[in-house]
Amino acid sequence: MRIGFIGLGIMGAPMAANLDRAGFDVRGFDLAPDRPGRTAGSAKEAISGADVVITMLPDSPQVEEVLPDIVEYGGPDLLYIDMSTIDPGTSRRLAERLRALDAPVSGGERGAIEGSLSIMVGGAEEDFARALPVFHAVGKTIVHVGPPGAGQTVKAANQLVVGGTYALVAEAILLMEASGVDAAKGLDVLAGGLAGSRILELKRHSMVAREFTPGFRVDLHHKDMGIATAAARDAGLSLPLTAIVTQLVAAARAQGLGSLDHSALLKVIERINSA
Ligand code: NAD
Repeated sequence: MRIGFIGLGIMGAPMAANLDRAGFDVRGFDLAPDRPGRTAGSAKEAISGADVVITMLPDSPQVEEVLPDIVEYGGPDLLYIDMSTIDPGTSRRLAERLRALDAPVSGGERGAIEGSLSIMVGGAEEDFARALPVFHAVGKTIVHVGPPGAGQTVKAANQLVVGGTYALVAEAILLMEASGVDAAKGLDVLAGGLAGSRILELKRHSMVAREFTPGFRVDLHHKDMGIATAAARDAGLSLPLTAIVTQLVAAARAQGLGSLDHSALLKVIERINSA
């Protein structure tokens, strides 16, 4: 099976490498010429003759930018899988134009490198079945969650939980430190109890040490909170905690922390509490 892979960033490059290792014929393209796995000179070259095209791009505008090439150069049986995190409405519109799945992921750079991503898939059942071998090469938890756009809705829900968890872990660190308690030891206990989470497991040491190399950039989480807020409005819902987390992420960005890891929410909470 030939795969055209467009967007070889923090996530896309290791995902394309895993597909290559699994035996797929991968043609990778990125606008940046120096990205690992860039074996095609243009989007057209990556798309032409592909059975499957995958995009792993920052946001909806970039996905919409490559869409005309996919429509023009893709063959009649092409399956298009967008694994970027974008708004559900854009995913639904894509699926009206061509055979498409929305398949955003969770698990971060480490999950991309290890091929252990969680993948939430929206689209037709038969397209999901056809894409399964591709998903198995990059992910572990792979769930067909509903029709087009449903994968993005689940991802928006995921980002609420991730953002909220970071904010509360940040507050827990400050509380312990301000009270003279060793936060590293405290978080070790939390990680083993009911408050335990993948975030505590993977990020507690770097947060206490104030290391914020991305990972997942604040700028991308800001985009995702915008998607979640819009999805809540479309669904006629009030999500008060989501609103607070959205504002904290916006503050991180406004404070010039946009290119740091999203665990840098800790810096925002710290600044709220400093003279
Ligand atoms: P990134 O910025 O590292 O990579 C995006 C890549 O797309 C860049 O290399 C860029 O040059 C390329 N690009 C942009 N426009 C293009 C175009 N028109 N044609 C070809 N290439 C183009 O971003 P990332 O961290 O890899 O994230 C990608 C997507 O995955 C985002 O939607 C993000 O929200 C989502 N995501 C990221 C993570 C993470 O931990 N980084 C985790 C889960 C989901």
